[in-house]
Amino acid sequence: MKKEEIKSLFDEYVLPTYTRQNICLVKGKGSRVWDIDGKEYIDFFPGWAVSGLGHCHPMVVNAIKHQARKILHVSNNFMNVKQARLAEEISKAAFASRSFFCNSGAEAVEAAIKFARRYGFKKGRFEIIAMKNSFHGRTFGALTATGQSKYREGFAPLPEGFKYADFNSIESFKNLLTDKTVAVILEPVQGEGGINVADKEYILQLKEICDERDILLIFDEVQTCMGRTGKLFAYQHYGIEPDLMTLAKSLGGGVAIGALVVNNKVENVLVPGTHASTFGGNPLAAAAAIAVFKAIKKEQLLKNVERQGEYLRKRLEDIAERSSFLHSVRGLGLMLGIECAGSCTEIVSKSAENGLLINCTQGNVLRMACAINISGKVIDKGLEIFENTLKELSLCK
Ligand SMILES: *Cc1c(COP(=O)(O)O)cnc(C)c1O
Repeated sequence: MKKEEIKSLFDEYVLPTYTRQNICLVKGKGSRVWDIDGKEYIDFFPGWAVSGLGHCHPMVVNAIKHQARKILHVSNNFMNVKQARLAEEISKAAFASRSFFCNSGAEAVEAAIKFARRYGFKKGRFEIIAMKNSFHGRTFGALTATGQSKYREGFAPLPEGFKYADFNSIESFKNLLTDKTVAVILEPVQGEGGINVADKEYILQLKEICDERDILLIFDEVQTCMGRTGKLFAYQHYGIEPDLMTLAKSLGGGVAIGALVVNNKVENVLVPGTHASTFGGNPLAAAAAIAVFKAIKKEQLLKNVERQGEYLRKRLEDIAERSSFLHSVRGLGLMLGIECAGSCTEIVSKSAENGLLINCTQGNVLRMACAINISGKVIDKGLEIFENTLKELSLCK
């Protein structure tokens, strides 16, 4: 099939809910992808940060192959080996915890919201404080927790009981507290919101208030998990533990899986019958996620994130210095954003034309979330394209 034929199928049969680039990707290996015409791209944003180990990591591919021959799905009325082992893996890598498995980030956030509501139920506490500029997904609960009105427009009425604090402002949070507050949800590094890193002091104060008032601290680590920021989970930069943590995106190394992880210190309120997912924790997806944990350990990828994250950041800062269009570089590990003086959509499409895939969020923030096993050599190759693209657009000396 030719690209034009695929495009006409999309145009005729797929709901147009995305702004899609005119590129059809058919193959990937590590930080490289190929389109249907055989053109190669360096991928600095593999699958919206889903393919954290790059495309088709051999350990993930083998785990899937192996599992596919045994059993693909069993209902949650039965036990399965892989779900049990994955839950253990998460608890050992994070904090003593129990997991609920689902299939996406929004579902993990929904589970967290439901957990919080049940937690406060007997005492009549239900209010959840979320952050402005946050992103938690597109289902009704997650959408309502998302502190950006552009995503919510036209979908009212939304669930009640959500309030929005300024990110990184403890005063703003305090002002929203009532005796009905049951939880606060935030991303340690806001992703869609423009790569905004939570301050350490802020998180420590938040944690203290939550402990004092029996408020659940929920970290949405859907985008920051599995080594993205240089720690396995981003909360580990702060020296505290959240009560609840949501995982998805790169958890399955390219396979759809999400999880709500609940600290053992919190009473388990989601008892049989209160929540469920048909596909959640199926052997195939769980096997892929176990392989991701193994690969990160075996290949010492957290060290790589630290090293390459620092390298990429320095190189970007250097480029930004020679460009009046690129302002500051910010982020953590290999989750980086570059604030631009105006819209960066043209940089993204021109880069793709030249063979580099990057992303733009909030209209003016270039986002890079390279695979955590990317090498310096591939970063160099990608940045060469990036720099040439900026020069072509007369945005850099
Ligand atoms: C992407 C994202 C979500 C939503 O995940 P989906 O799998 O698209 O439902 C939720 N929270 C954060 C922080 C995200 O980055």
